[in-house]
Amino acid sequence: MVISDATRRLTNSETPLLDARVLLSYATGERPEALRRPLTGEEERRFESYIARRAVGEPVAYIVGEKEFMGYTFRLNNHCLIPRPDTETVVEHIIESNKIPSPAILDLCCGSGCIGLSLALFINGARVTLCDVDAGAIDMTRENAALHGLADRTDIFRLDVLTESLPEGFDIIVCNPPYIPSELTDTLEVAKTEPRLALDGGGDGLDFYRVITPKAYASLAPGGTLVYEIGWDQGEAVPALLKAAGFVNITVKKDYGGNDRVVRGEKPC
Ligand code: GLN
Repeated sequence: MVISDATRRLTNSETPLLDARVLLSYATGERPEALRRPLTGEEERRFESYIARRAVGEPVAYIVGEKEFMGYTFRLNNHCLIPRPDTETVVEHIIESNKIPSPAILDLCCGSGCIGLSLALFINGARVTLCDVDAGAIDMTRENAALHGLADRTDIFRLDVLTESLPEGFDIIVCNPPYIPSELTDTLEVAKTEPRLALDGGGDGLDFYRVITPKAYASLAPGGTLVYEIGWDQGEAVPALLKAAGFVNITVKKDYGGNDRVVRGEKPC
């Protein structure tokens, strides 16, 4: 199959040519423009199967099993949300605002581990604990920690934030919880291919923030910081939850698309 045939088959994709080129490069191990030879039988079969999966809507990131985030590659399985560029705003905000040398960081609902592991890569000496309720996501976080040489600076385990208590003594807690209202989740295109568990935030989308905020307050060291990713329309409700739990200096920051995306608050010293 040549690229033009593959592109024609990807009628549901908004970026058929790009998808076909990326899948061809993963099928052959070479950049498409450098490929000056016919595909081997094995490569042809692999490319064919990738295109067939993409044609029925599977995201490229799951087919190739990885996605770039903060300039690093993160391995993925379908237990993890695909890392979003919007989420880089959360990580950048923490890197820029951190003043504590070698901070102890907790990443809740870590998925692939992209947030917490990026922080470990960008903040010197940071020690990062990463937790998720899904054992399949925890496997992926462990794999990504090993891939980036972070095994000895990370602690990774299964934890259900809704029902279990949090470990204590952190300088920074970061969390990108499921925050889409349940009814909306039913209609979302991404919910057809990405884990509902990582998207559905309950009736009004705020279930996780309601439960986690007071627990995070108790778990943070005095002067510690809580940082959330939020949905575009949660820039008032989530700060109100932080205020009610005792957090101070609460701020809301926008992503590069101009939507409210990051909420930050401090536990008083
Ligand atoms: N930003 C994601 C989306 O739009 C949702 C992420 C989440 O619920 N944490 O699909």
